[in-house]
Amino acid sequence: MRRCVCDECGMEFTIDRLDTDKEAMKDGHEVEVISFTCPKCDEKFIVAVRDEESARLRDKLQSSQEYYRKIYDPKDQNKTRQLRNEIYYNKRSLVVYMDKLKKRYLKELRKRGK
Ligand SMILES: [Zn+2]
Repeated sequence: MRRCVCDECGMEFTIDRLDTDKEAMKDGHEVEVISFTCPKCDEKFIVAVRDEESARLRDKLQSSQEYYRKIYDPKDQNKTRQLRNEIYYNKRSLVVYMDKLKKRYLKELRKRGK
C-alpha cells in the first residue's frame, strides 16, 4: 500500500482504501470520483475522475494492446510500428481526456466552496 503525507495537516498515513463516488456535474454529466481521505483531518484527495467516455477510451486502449500481443510478429516491423503508434495514441487520448475531466471537476468543486 502507498504511503502518503497529507498536504493539509502533515499527517503521514497509508492509503488502504479508495472511495468511489457517483456524482453529477453542474450540467448533469455523471462522473465517478476516485478519492481517499486523510484519517486525521478528513481532507479529501481526488485521485481520478472517470465517466463513460473515459471508459470507452480505456476499452479502446486495452483492445489495441491485446490485438498487438496477439498479432505481434518481430519480422513485420512496419505492422509492429504502426500498432505501437496506435497504442501510444490511444494512451495519450485517455490521459489527456481524464486530465481535462479532473480539472473540470476540481474547478466546479472550488466554485461550490466544498
Ligand atoms: Zn490531514
